[in-house]
Amino acid sequence: MKGQQKVMSITGKSKVKASTRRVIALLEREYGVPHRSRRSDPLESLIVTILSQNTNDINRDKAYRSLRKRFRSWQEMHDAPVREIAEAIRVGGLANIKSERINEILHSVKKERGDFDLSFLRDLPAEEAEEALLSHKGVGLKTAKVVLLFSLGKNVFPVDTHIHRLSKRLGLVPEKATRQHTHDIMAHLVPPEKMHSFHLNLIAHGRKICKARDPRCPDCLLNRLCPRIGV
Ligand code: SF4
Repeated sequence: MKGQQKVMSITGKSKVKASTRRVIALLEREYGVPHRSRRSDPLESLIVTILSQNTNDINRDKAYRSLRKRFRSWQEMHDAPVREIAEAIRVGGLANIKSERINEILHSVKKERGDFDLSFLRDLPAEEAEEALLSHKGVGLKTAKVVLLFSLGKNVFPVDTHIHRLSKRLGLVPEKATRQHTHDIMAHLVPPEKMHSFHLNLIAHGRKICKARDPRCPDCLLNRLCPRIGV
């Protein structure tokens, strides 16, 4: 009986893998293979990711520009009172929480490294670089993976709110999976070379079609393989 269950679970896993590959291909046909841009300063990427929480890309960028205009260097930002950081990023929303986080990160990086240079992370394997980022107070799993993917060129798969929702609706992860669980499952499910493309295309699809409140299932290119159809 145990043997039978094992065979079934392996079969189930390979079905989900096949389904994931099909979803990746269909999304690439629709949205293309996103260009992988040149790698940026990891600390800048970290701060921009903090600023992106609960806001859109336009306000995130406005907040970052305002922050860099106000402080000429990371050191100046590090030395400033938190309320000055909050004033500078007000346009991006949640300024008090985000300014606290930025302050904590700058202090933590300076204390550990002696400066603000995180470029050494490029030379580490993805898991070690992730651990190093997570060791800084204020850095969560998604934020660390975003920096790894976009700034450090590592093949990892960050799970944001859109990806978490779509992964569940498409049956790639269990309906009750936590964000942490979804990170773990997707890390094994998505082929490394497709992580950048799938991350961006799933978000694009979540924003345009598979919205949180009102998914446009009849218009969805994935509806033939979506278990949610008919629910
Ligand atoms: S069919 Fe509906 S629920 Fe499924 S992925 Fe498409 S929009 Fe989302």
